[in-house]
Amino acid sequence: MSNCESATVSTQTEAGLYIDPAALSAQLPALSYQDDALQMESVSIKALAQTYGTPCYVYSKQAILDVYNAYSTAFSTIEHQICYAVKANSNLAVLSVLAKAGAGFDIVSRGELMRVLAAGGQASRVVFSGVGKTPADIEYALSQGIGCFNVESISELSIINEVAQTLDKKAPISLRVNPDVDANTHPYISTGLKDNKFGIAHDKAIAVYEGAAQMSHIDILGIDCHIGSQLTQVEPFVAALDKLIELIEQLRDKGIMLKHIDLGGGLGVRYIDEQPVSIKDFADALLPKLQKLGLSVFFEPGRSMVANAGILITEVNILKPTEHKNFAIVDAAMNDLIRPALYQAEMGVIPSTLPANGMDTEGTQAWDIVGAICETGDFLAKNRVLSLQVGDLLAVTGAGAYGFNMSSNYNTRPRTAEVMVSGEQHQLIKPRETIEALYSDERLWQG
Ligand SMILES: *Cc1c(COP(=O)(O)O)cnc(C)c1O
Repeated sequence: MSNCESATVSTQTEAGLYIDPAALSAQLPALSYQDDALQMESVSIKALAQTYGTPCYVYSKQAILDVYNAYSTAFSTIEHQICYAVKANSNLAVLSVLAKAGAGFDIVSRGELMRVLAAGGQASRVVFSGVGKTPADIEYALSQGIGCFNVESISELSIINEVAQTLDKKAPISLRVNPDVDANTHPYISTGLKDNKFGIAHDKAIAVYEGAAQMSHIDILGIDCHIGSQLTQVEPFVAALDKLIELIEQLRDKGIMLKHIDLGGGLGVRYIDEQPVSIKDFADALLPKLQKLGLSVFFEPGRSMVANAGILITEVNILKPTEHKNFAIVDAAMNDLIRPALYQAEMGVIPSTLPANGMDTEGTQAWDIVGAICETGDFLAKNRVLSLQVGDLLAVTGAGAYGFNMSSNYNTRPRTAEVMVSGEQHQLIKPRETIEALYSDERLWQG
């Protein structure tokens, strides 16, 4: 886990952004250079590339467990449930490692629930979030014994009540409240709150709870919020907690007693130089208020659980220096990892072998690391000072969350292999797709 007082690892040079590979890897779990060769846990990146080909996602089992245990330990003084947000990385191997460790899960679709069950997770430890649950989703979840629906609207609440009635069950629910934390006070989360598609407005929440209490097949369990993603400070979480506590007290006065409070996900990670609050400091800021409340607490971490447990290994195919820019064309592209193109996310890109002459940025060029897709937006990183040769292997770090799960087959590119590493062991957890399989179920027009 990264230390919150740790130094920056990048320098803006005249040529471009230089990231010290050894310094970055020292800040990330599971990655290190041994004799100048990058390895994840005890397996070299080169060996992984030789065994599984490139591009290839690789995840460290230990890094995932370490974060889960850090959450668990940090909140050990109160009753808690860590519900891993499946959408960050839903490979069955990842889910099974977490299920075995005792994690619950936060899901946003029926498909994710099916994955959790296939990976050995228990439905009773699953919370079902999302604005667009269909009656079929609700019926499936209820029949499997879902732990709780995080309800985002009044109309969803009535649909759940109706479906539960047809199944002769009581549906466990909590309301997802939009706590409306002042975006001016906390500008860094403004994007997390601008969209009222999510959640029930804070000032409407009590009325909706009163409505829910009247519904015959609804069992009110808790209250929920999720205020945004990649938050590096604890203050917005504390502000949201305060808002929920106000509501919990008002509900108590009306005789509506809750069993749990769910503070969602959203804790940020270090990609390059970010210095997110540590899980321990995050917990220490929330615990006094939570202890006083006396409810069980749920969290739904996604990114923070897996982002830095994963890398994307890619090989440099072509070097194309031009008058204005130097392009390194690699075998991974925006279809494999869309965060840079979609969010202008800056991710670490480090070599599999440290240059023999150490940090020599003199005469080293800046490169745009780009894919082979016919889109100008197809890049993994821009203006990075790296010493590159054709055939070099690069690791894109922080790729364990919202990486493979957001990949596509654009340009008829098969999705990458996925591999998990544990100590000296490594195992294929999803084979690379074959090109033929991408169109084998399509039909020629028969007219
Ligand atoms: C995406 C999501 C999460 C996880 O967010 P991270 O930023 O990845 O921790 C948690 N809860 C809900 C409802 C979400 O939509």
